Amino acid sequence: MSSYQHVVIGGGVHGCAAAYHLARSGRSVVLLEAATLASAASGGFGKRGVRGNKRDLRELPLLRRAYTLWPGLSDLLGADVGYERTGGVNLIERPATGLRGGLVAARAHAQVQSALGVPTEVIDRERVLDLLPEVTDAVVGGLHAPLDGMGDQTATTRAYAAAAQRFGAVVVEGARVTRLERDGAVVRAVICDDGERYEVGESVLVAANAGAAPLVERELGVALPLWTIYPQALRIRPPGTSPARLLVGHDSRTVSLKTVEDGVVMVSGGWQGRPGSDGSGEVLEDQVEGNLREAGAVFPALAAAELLEASAARPESCAQDQIPIIDVVPGTANVLVAAGWTGHGFAIAPAVAEELSGWMLSGRRPPALAPFAVDRFVERVGT
Ligand SMILES: Cc1cc2nc3c(=O)[nH]c(=O)nc-3n(C[C@H](O)[C@H](O)[C@H](O)COP(=O)(O)OP(=O)(O)OC[C@H]3O[C@@H](n4cnc5c(N)ncnc54)[C@H](O)[C@@H]3O)c2cc1C
Repeated sequence: MSSYQHVVIGGGVHGCAAAYHLARSGRSVVLLEAATLASAASGGFGKRGVRGNKRDLRELPLLRRAYTLWPGLSDLLGADVGYERTGGVNLIERPATGLRGGLVAARAHAQVQSALGVPTEVIDRERVLDLLPEVTDAVVGGLHAPLDGMGDQTATTRAYAAAAQRFGAVVVEGARVTRLERDGAVVRAVICDDGERYEVGESVLVAANAGAAPLVERELGVALPLWTIYPQALRIRPPGTSPARLLVGHDSRTVSLKTVEDGVVMVSGGWQGRPGSDGSGEVLEDQVEGNLREAGAVFPALAAAELLEASAARPESCAQDQIPIIDVVPGTANVLVAAGWTGHGFAIAPAVAEELSGWMLSGRRPPALAPFAVDRFVERVGT
Protein backbone atom coordinates (compact mmCIF):
# COMPACT_ATOMS: atom_id res chain seq x y z
CA MET A 1 0.00 0.00 0.00
CA SER A 2 1.18 3.52 -0.77
CA SER A 3 -0.21 6.97 -0.22
CA TYR A 4 -0.21 10.05 -2.47
CA GLN A 5 -1.83 13.45 -2.29
CA HIS A 6 -3.11 13.05 -5.86
CA VAL A 7 -3.92 9.94 -7.87
CA VAL A 8 -4.21 10.46 -11.63
CA ILE A 9 -5.94 7.71 -13.63
CA GLY A 10 -4.89 7.54 -17.29
CA GLY A 11 -1.54 8.02 -19.01
CA GLY A 12 -2.64 9.98 -22.07
CA VAL A 13 -1.71 13.58 -22.71
CA HIS A 14 -4.25 14.95 -20.22
CA GLY A 15 -3.29 12.69 -17.32
CA CYS A 16 0.44 13.14 -17.90
CA ALA A 17 0.16 16.92 -18.25
CA ALA A 18 -1.90 17.24 -15.07
CA ALA A 19 0.55 14.99 -13.20
CA TYR A 20 3.38 17.22 -14.40
CA HIS A 21 1.82 20.40 -13.03
CA LEU A 22 0.87 18.78 -9.73
CA ALA A 23 4.34 17.32 -9.22
CA ARG A 24 5.95 20.59 -10.23
CA SER A 25 3.92 22.28 -7.50
CA GLY A 26 5.53 19.98 -4.96
CA ARG A 27 2.63 17.54 -4.53
CA SER A 28 3.03 13.80 -4.25
CA VAL A 29 1.44 12.22 -7.33
CA VAL A 30 0.96 8.75 -8.71
CA LEU A 31 -0.23 8.24 -12.29
CA LEU A 32 -1.87 4.88 -12.99
CA GLU A 33 -2.04 3.77 -16.62
CA ALA A 34 -3.86 0.58 -17.59
CA ALA A 35 -1.57 -0.22 -20.53
CA THR A 36 1.39 1.96 -21.52
CA LEU A 37 1.75 5.73 -21.77
CA ALA A 38 0.22 7.16 -24.96
CA SER A 39 -1.33 3.83 -25.88
CA ALA A 40 -4.82 5.21 -26.63
CA ALA A 41 -5.97 8.49 -28.24
CA SER A 42 -2.71 10.27 -27.38
CA GLY A 43 -0.62 7.82 -29.39
CA GLY A 44 -0.27 6.35 -32.86
CA PHE A 45 1.25 7.58 -36.08
CA GLY A 46 1.34 11.10 -37.42
CA LYS A 47 0.58 14.27 -35.57
CA ARG A 48 -2.42 16.03 -34.07
CA GLY A 49 -3.70 19.38 -35.21
CA VAL A 50 -3.30 22.31 -32.84
CA ARG A 51 -6.21 24.12 -34.39
CA GLY A 52 -8.28 27.14 -33.41
CA ASN A 53 -9.96 27.52 -36.80
CA LYS A 54 -13.60 26.36 -36.60
CA ARG A 55 -13.18 25.18 -33.00
CA ASP A 56 -16.16 25.44 -30.64
CA LEU A 57 -16.13 28.99 -29.27
CA ARG A 58 -16.40 27.74 -25.67
CA GLU A 59 -12.94 26.19 -26.03
CA LEU A 60 -11.26 29.29 -27.45
CA PRO A 61 -10.07 30.77 -24.12
CA LEU A 62 -8.18 27.49 -23.53
CA LEU A 63 -6.96 27.38 -27.11
CA ARG A 64 -5.73 30.96 -26.88
CA ARG A 65 -3.66 30.01 -23.83
CA ALA A 66 -2.47 26.84 -25.58
CA TYR A 67 -1.31 28.96 -28.53
CA THR A 68 1.08 30.73 -26.16
CA LEU A 69 2.26 27.51 -24.49
CA TRP A 70 2.93 25.25 -27.48
CA PRO A 71 5.97 27.08 -28.94
CA GLY A 72 7.83 26.83 -25.60
CA LEU A 73 6.68 23.35 -24.59
CA SER A 74 9.76 21.43 -25.78
CA ASP A 75 12.00 23.73 -23.75
CA LEU A 76 9.72 23.58 -20.72
CA LEU A 77 9.58 19.78 -20.71
CA GLY A 78 13.15 19.17 -21.86
CA ALA A 79 12.13 17.01 -24.84
CA ASP A 80 11.03 17.66 -28.40
CA VAL A 81 7.22 17.58 -28.63
CA GLY A 82 7.28 17.93 -32.43
CA TYR A 83 5.36 21.18 -32.44
CA GLU A 84 5.28 23.19 -35.70
CA ARG A 85 3.36 26.40 -36.25
CA THR A 86 2.45 25.75 -39.88
CA GLY A 87 -0.70 27.84 -40.04
CA GLY A 88 -3.98 26.28 -41.06
CA VAL A 89 -6.59 26.75 -43.77
CA ASN A 90 -10.21 25.69 -43.80
CA LEU A 91 -11.01 25.39 -47.50
CA ILE A 92 -14.31 26.59 -48.93
CA GLU A 93 -15.91 25.30 -52.13
CA ARG A 94 -19.48 26.54 -51.85
CA PRO A 95 -21.31 29.84 -51.42
CA ALA A 96 -23.27 28.31 -48.53
CA THR A 97 -23.04 24.99 -46.65
CA GLY A 98 -25.76 24.08 -44.17
CA LEU A 99 -26.46 26.85 -41.69
CA ARG A 100 -22.87 27.57 -40.64
CA GLY A 101 -20.62 27.14 -43.64
CA GLY A 102 -19.69 28.45 -47.05
CA LEU A 103 -18.24 31.71 -48.25
CA VAL A 104 -21.30 33.59 -47.06
CA ALA A 105 -20.47 32.76 -43.41
CA ALA A 106 -16.68 33.08 -43.63
CA ARG A 107 -16.42 36.73 -42.69
CA ALA A 108 -18.49 36.26 -39.54
CA HIS A 109 -16.37 33.26 -38.49
CA ALA A 110 -13.17 35.21 -39.07
CA GLN A 111 -14.50 38.19 -37.12
CA VAL A 112 -15.58 36.16 -34.08
CA GLN A 113 -12.56 33.86 -34.00
CA SER A 114 -10.20 36.84 -34.25
CA ALA A 115 -12.02 38.64 -31.45
CA LEU A 116 -11.67 35.53 -29.26
CA GLY A 117 -7.94 35.12 -29.80
CA VAL A 118 -7.65 33.02 -32.96
CA PRO A 119 -6.46 35.49 -35.62
CA THR A 120 -8.33 34.48 -38.77
CA GLU A 121 -8.61 36.03 -42.22
CA VAL A 122 -10.88 35.24 -45.14
CA ILE A 123 -8.73 34.51 -48.16
CA ASP A 124 -9.73 34.36 -51.82
CA ARG A 125 -8.78 31.67 -54.32
CA GLU A 126 -5.63 33.54 -55.39
CA ARG A 127 -4.33 33.57 -51.85
CA VAL A 128 -5.31 29.92 -51.31
CA LEU A 129 -3.22 29.08 -54.38
CA ASP A 130 -0.24 30.94 -52.89
CA LEU A 131 -0.46 28.67 -49.85
CA LEU A 132 -1.61 25.46 -51.55
CA PRO A 133 -0.78 25.59 -55.29
CA GLU A 134 -2.05 22.05 -56.00
CA VAL A 135 -5.53 22.56 -54.55
CA THR A 136 -8.61 21.60 -56.61
CA ASP A 137 -10.21 24.09 -59.01
CA ALA A 138 -13.40 23.84 -56.96
CA VAL A 139 -11.97 25.82 -54.03
CA VAL A 140 -13.22 29.41 -54.01
CA GLY A 141 -11.58 30.65 -50.81
CA GLY A 142 -10.75 29.78 -47.26
CA LEU A 143 -10.40 30.74 -43.63
CA HIS A 144 -6.72 31.15 -42.80
CA ALA A 145 -5.54 30.90 -39.18
CA PRO A 146 -1.77 31.56 -39.19
CA LEU A 147 -1.25 30.51 -35.55
CA ASP A 148 -2.57 26.98 -36.12
CA GLY A 149 -0.14 24.10 -36.34
CA MET A 150 0.47 20.55 -35.17
CA GLY A 151 2.28 18.56 -32.51
CA ASP A 152 3.42 15.00 -31.93
CA GLN A 153 0.93 13.42 -29.55
CA THR A 154 3.14 10.52 -28.44
CA ALA A 155 6.19 12.70 -27.87
CA THR A 156 4.15 15.30 -26.00
CA THR A 157 2.56 12.73 -23.72
CA ARG A 158 5.86 11.05 -22.94
CA ALA A 159 7.58 14.40 -22.43
CA TYR A 160 4.98 15.44 -19.85
CA ALA A 161 5.30 12.08 -18.07
CA ALA A 162 9.10 12.21 -18.00
CA ALA A 163 9.07 15.78 -16.72
CA ALA A 164 6.51 14.82 -14.06
CA GLN A 165 8.80 12.01 -12.94
CA ARG A 166 11.71 14.41 -12.68
CA PHE A 167 9.57 16.39 -10.21
CA GLY A 168 8.94 13.22 -8.22
CA ALA A 169 5.71 11.84 -9.71
CA VAL A 170 5.44 8.06 -9.77
CA VAL A 171 4.20 6.60 -13.06
CA VAL A 172 2.87 3.04 -13.04
CA GLU A 173 2.09 1.32 -16.35
CA GLY A 174 0.02 -1.87 -16.55
CA ALA A 175 -2.11 -0.56 -13.67
CA ARG A 176 -5.79 -0.71 -14.56
CA VAL A 177 -7.94 0.95 -11.92
CA THR A 178 -10.93 -1.22 -11.12
CA ARG A 179 -12.17 0.16 -7.80
CA LEU A 180 -12.63 3.51 -6.12
CA GLU A 181 -13.12 3.03 -2.40
CA ARG A 182 -15.53 5.56 -0.90
CA ASP A 183 -16.14 6.90 2.53
CA GLY A 184 -19.29 8.97 1.97
CA ALA A 185 -18.49 11.65 -0.61
CA VAL A 186 -14.75 11.13 -0.34
CA VAL A 187 -12.77 8.54 -2.29
CA ARG A 188 -10.07 7.31 0.09
CA ALA A 189 -8.34 4.69 -2.04
CA VAL A 190 -7.87 3.63 -5.65
CA ILE A 191 -7.40 -0.07 -6.34
CA CYS A 192 -5.94 -1.69 -9.45
CA ASP A 193 -6.71 -5.02 -11.09
CA ASP A 194 -3.56 -6.54 -9.59
CA GLY A 195 -4.87 -5.71 -6.11
CA GLU A 196 -2.44 -2.82 -5.61
CA ARG A 197 -4.00 -0.14 -3.44
CA TYR A 198 -3.21 3.59 -3.48
CA GLU A 199 -4.41 5.74 -0.58
CA VAL A 200 -5.69 9.17 -1.64
CA GLY A 201 -4.49 12.10 0.46
CA GLU A 202 -6.42 14.81 -1.37
CA SER A 203 -7.92 14.12 -4.77
CA VAL A 204 -8.32 11.78 -7.72
CA LEU A 205 -8.31 12.82 -11.37
CA VAL A 206 -10.03 10.46 -13.80
CA ALA A 207 -8.27 11.26 -17.08
CA ALA A 208 -9.07 7.90 -18.63
CA ASN A 209 -10.83 9.23 -21.78
CA ALA A 210 -12.89 6.30 -23.15
CA GLY A 211 -12.35 4.48 -19.85
CA ALA A 212 -13.62 7.40 -17.76
CA ALA A 213 -17.40 7.11 -18.07
CA PRO A 214 -17.53 3.33 -17.44
CA LEU A 215 -15.31 3.68 -14.34
CA VAL A 216 -17.25 6.65 -12.96
CA GLU A 217 -20.60 4.94 -13.54
CA ARG A 218 -19.57 1.60 -12.07
CA GLU A 219 -17.70 2.92 -9.04
CA LEU A 220 -19.44 6.22 -8.31
CA GLY A 221 -22.92 5.60 -9.72
CA VAL A 222 -22.86 8.65 -12.01
CA ALA A 223 -23.74 8.22 -15.70
CA LEU A 224 -21.88 10.83 -17.75
CA PRO A 225 -23.43 11.57 -21.19
CA LEU A 226 -20.36 10.33 -23.08
CA TRP A 227 -19.78 7.64 -25.67
CA THR A 228 -16.81 6.11 -27.46
CA ILE A 229 -15.77 6.60 -31.07
CA TYR A 230 -12.81 5.18 -33.01
CA PRO A 231 -11.46 8.02 -35.18
CA GLN A 232 -9.83 6.86 -38.38
CA ALA A 233 -6.45 8.07 -39.61
CA LEU A 234 -4.59 7.15 -42.80
CA ARG A 235 -0.98 7.52 -43.86
CA ILE A 236 -0.58 8.00 -47.59
CA ARG A 237 2.37 8.68 -49.87
CA PRO A 238 1.63 11.07 -52.75
CA PRO A 239 3.38 10.49 -56.09
CA GLY A 240 5.42 13.71 -55.71
CA THR A 241 5.93 16.09 -52.84
CA SER A 242 3.07 16.55 -50.40
CA PRO A 243 0.58 19.20 -51.52
CA ALA A 244 -0.59 19.78 -47.90
CA ARG A 245 1.94 22.41 -46.94
CA LEU A 246 0.04 23.45 -43.84
CA LEU A 247 -2.78 22.15 -41.68
CA VAL A 248 -5.72 21.69 -44.06
CA GLY A 249 -9.36 21.36 -43.07
CA HIS A 250 -12.49 21.68 -45.14
CA ASP A 251 -15.74 23.57 -44.81
CA SER A 252 -17.97 21.01 -46.55
CA ARG A 253 -15.89 17.85 -46.94
CA THR A 254 -15.10 15.40 -44.15
CA VAL A 255 -11.33 15.54 -44.38
CA SER A 256 -8.27 17.03 -42.76
CA LEU A 257 -4.72 16.73 -44.05
CA LYS A 258 -1.27 17.31 -42.66
CA THR A 259 2.21 16.47 -43.85
CA VAL A 260 3.73 14.47 -41.06
CA GLU A 261 7.03 12.99 -42.16
CA ASP A 262 9.19 13.12 -45.24
CA GLY A 263 6.37 13.78 -47.72
CA VAL A 264 3.90 11.41 -46.05
CA VAL A 265 0.41 12.83 -45.56
CA MET A 266 -1.88 12.00 -42.64
CA VAL A 267 -5.54 11.98 -43.66
CA SER A 268 -8.31 12.11 -41.08
CA GLY A 269 -11.16 14.46 -40.30
CA GLY A 270 -14.09 12.49 -38.94
CA TRP A 271 -14.27 9.05 -40.55
CA GLN A 272 -14.54 6.23 -38.03
CA GLY A 273 -13.88 2.58 -37.38
CA ARG A 274 -15.89 0.18 -35.25
CA PRO A 275 -15.18 -1.38 -31.87
CA GLY A 276 -12.84 -4.36 -32.06
CA SER A 277 -12.68 -7.27 -29.67
CA ASP A 278 -9.95 -5.96 -27.35
CA GLY A 279 -11.13 -2.43 -26.53
CA SER A 280 -9.42 -0.88 -29.53
CA GLY A 281 -11.11 -0.17 -32.86
CA GLU A 282 -10.79 -1.64 -36.34
CA VAL A 283 -11.04 0.03 -39.74
CA LEU A 284 -14.03 -0.24 -42.04
CA GLU A 285 -13.30 -0.48 -45.76
CA ASP A 286 -15.97 2.02 -46.82
CA GLN A 287 -14.67 4.60 -44.32
CA VAL A 288 -11.14 4.28 -45.69
CA GLU A 289 -12.42 4.64 -49.25
CA GLY A 290 -14.54 7.65 -48.30
CA ASN A 291 -11.65 9.42 -46.62
CA LEU A 292 -9.32 8.75 -49.58
CA ARG A 293 -11.98 10.01 -51.98
CA GLU A 294 -12.27 13.28 -50.06
CA ALA A 295 -8.48 13.71 -49.95
CA GLY A 296 -8.33 13.23 -53.73
CA ALA A 297 -11.16 15.71 -54.20
CA VAL A 298 -9.18 18.40 -52.35
CA PHE A 299 -5.80 17.69 -53.94
CA PRO A 300 -6.21 15.77 -57.24
CA ALA A 301 -2.61 14.50 -56.92
CA LEU A 302 -3.64 12.54 -53.85
CA ALA A 303 -6.02 10.38 -55.91
CA ALA A 304 -2.90 8.48 -57.01
CA ALA A 305 -1.35 8.29 -53.53
CA GLU A 306 -0.26 4.98 -52.05
CA LEU A 307 -2.09 3.94 -48.88
CA LEU A 308 0.60 3.05 -46.33
CA GLU A 309 -1.49 2.48 -43.25
CA ALA A 310 -5.05 2.79 -41.98
CA SER A 311 -5.95 2.76 -38.32
CA ALA A 312 -9.03 3.25 -36.19
CA ALA A 313 -7.50 1.57 -33.16
CA ARG A 314 -7.62 4.46 -30.72
CA PRO A 315 -10.78 5.09 -28.72
CA GLU A 316 -11.87 8.65 -27.99
CA SER A 317 -14.73 9.81 -25.75
CA CYS A 318 -17.40 12.02 -27.26
CA ALA A 319 -19.76 14.39 -25.48
CA GLN A 320 -23.36 15.17 -26.35
CA ASP A 321 -22.61 18.84 -27.07
CA GLN A 322 -19.16 18.14 -28.55
CA ILE A 323 -17.10 19.80 -25.81
CA PRO A 324 -15.54 17.97 -22.85
CA ILE A 325 -16.78 17.41 -19.32
CA ILE A 326 -14.22 18.74 -16.84
CA ASP A 327 -15.68 18.78 -13.36
CA VAL A 328 -15.95 17.25 -9.92
CA VAL A 329 -17.98 14.05 -10.22
CA PRO A 330 -21.43 14.81 -8.75
CA GLY A 331 -21.88 13.31 -5.29
CA THR A 332 -18.15 13.21 -4.59
CA ALA A 333 -15.95 15.74 -2.86
CA ASN A 334 -12.56 14.84 -4.27
CA VAL A 335 -12.87 13.15 -7.68
CA LEU A 336 -12.47 15.18 -10.86
CA VAL A 337 -13.11 13.86 -14.32
CA ALA A 338 -11.78 15.23 -17.61
CA ALA A 339 -13.11 13.43 -20.70
CA GLY A 340 -15.36 13.81 -23.74
CA TRP A 341 -12.80 15.56 -25.96
CA THR A 342 -14.80 14.67 -29.08
CA GLY A 343 -11.82 14.37 -31.39
CA HIS A 344 -10.11 17.65 -30.56
CA GLY A 345 -8.66 17.31 -27.07
CA PHE A 346 -4.96 17.34 -27.91
CA ALA A 347 -4.56 20.98 -28.94
CA ILE A 348 -5.88 22.37 -25.67
CA ALA A 349 -4.16 19.85 -23.37
CA PRO A 350 -1.36 22.16 -22.13
CA ALA A 351 -3.90 24.81 -21.14
CA VAL A 352 -6.38 22.35 -19.63
CA ALA A 353 -3.63 20.86 -17.47
CA GLU A 354 -2.67 24.25 -16.06
CA GLU A 355 -6.27 25.01 -15.14
CA LEU A 356 -7.12 21.54 -13.89
CA SER A 357 -4.08 21.25 -11.66
CA GLY A 358 -4.79 24.75 -10.36
CA TRP A 359 -8.29 23.56 -9.44
CA MET A 360 -6.90 20.48 -7.67
CA LEU A 361 -4.44 22.63 -5.73
CA SER A 362 -6.82 25.42 -4.75
CA GLY A 363 -10.16 23.61 -4.59
CA ARG A 364 -11.69 26.38 -6.72
CA ARG A 365 -13.05 25.92 -10.23
CA PRO A 366 -11.14 28.22 -12.61
CA PRO A 367 -13.38 30.43 -14.81
CA ALA A 368 -11.83 28.98 -17.99
CA LEU A 369 -13.24 25.55 -17.08
CA ALA A 370 -16.75 26.76 -16.20
CA PRO A 371 -18.19 25.94 -19.68
CA PHE A 372 -17.30 22.29 -19.15
CA ALA A 373 -19.30 21.75 -15.95
CA VAL A 374 -21.38 18.60 -15.91
CA ASP A 375 -24.46 20.44 -14.64
CA ARG A 376 -24.91 21.95 -18.11
CA PHE A 377 -26.75 18.69 -18.86
CA VAL A 378 -29.09 18.96 -15.89
CA GLU A 379 -32.68 20.11 -16.33
CA ARG A 380 -33.25 23.63 -15.02
CA VAL A 381 -36.94 24.01 -15.88
CA GLY A 382 -38.77 25.73 -13.02
CA THR A 383 -35.63 26.58 -11.06
C1 LIG B 1 -6.99 9.46 -34.92
C2 LIG B 1 -7.18 10.64 -34.00
C3 LIG B 1 -6.95 11.92 -34.48
C4 LIG B 1 -7.09 13.02 -33.63
N1 LIG B 1 -6.82 14.27 -34.11
C5 LIG B 1 -6.81 15.32 -33.26
C6 LIG B 1 -6.37 16.60 -33.70
O1 LIG B 1 -6.00 16.77 -34.87
N2 LIG B 1 -6.36 17.62 -32.80
C7 LIG B 1 -6.76 17.46 -31.50
O2 LIG B 1 -6.74 18.43 -30.74
N3 LIG B 1 -7.18 16.25 -31.06
C8 LIG B 1 -7.20 15.18 -31.90
N4 LIG B 1 -7.60 13.96 -31.46
C9 LIG B 1 -8.10 13.83 -30.08
C10 LIG B 1 -6.98 13.76 -29.06
O3 LIG B 1 -5.95 12.90 -29.52
C11 LIG B 1 -7.57 13.27 -27.74
O4 LIG B 1 -8.65 14.10 -27.37
C12 LIG B 1 -6.55 13.29 -26.61
O5 LIG B 1 -5.37 12.62 -26.98
C13 LIG B 1 -7.17 12.63 -25.37
O6 LIG B 1 -6.18 12.53 -24.36
P1 LIG B 1 -6.51 11.78 -23.00
O7 LIG B 1 -5.29 11.82 -22.19
O8 LIG B 1 -7.76 12.31 -22.41
O9 LIG B 1 -6.90 10.29 -23.44
P2 LIG B 1 -6.05 9.02 -23.89
O10 LIG B 1 -4.85 9.37 -24.63
O11 LIG B 1 -7.03 8.10 -24.53
O12 LIG B 1 -5.56 8.43 -22.50
C14 LIG B 1 -6.42 7.81 -21.59
C15 LIG B 1 -5.64 6.69 -20.94
O13 LIG B 1 -6.40 6.15 -19.87
C16 LIG B 1 -6.10 4.78 -19.77
N5 LIG B 1 -7.16 4.14 -19.01
C17 LIG B 1 -8.45 3.91 -19.38
N6 LIG B 1 -9.12 3.30 -18.39
C18 LIG B 1 -8.24 3.16 -17.36
C19 LIG B 1 -8.33 2.61 -16.05
N7 LIG B 1 -9.47 2.07 -15.61
N8 LIG B 1 -7.23 2.61 -15.26
C20 LIG B 1 -6.06 3.15 -15.70
N9 LIG B 1 -5.92 3.69 -16.93
C21 LIG B 1 -7.00 3.70 -17.74
C22 LIG B 1 -6.01 4.33 -21.22
O14 LIG B 1 -5.23 3.14 -21.33
C23 LIG B 1 -5.35 5.53 -21.89
O15 LIG B 1 -3.95 5.37 -22.02
C24 LIG B 1 -7.50 12.83 -32.28
C25 LIG B 1 -7.74 11.54 -31.80
C26 LIG B 1 -7.57 10.45 -32.64
C27 LIG B 1 -7.80 9.07 -32.09
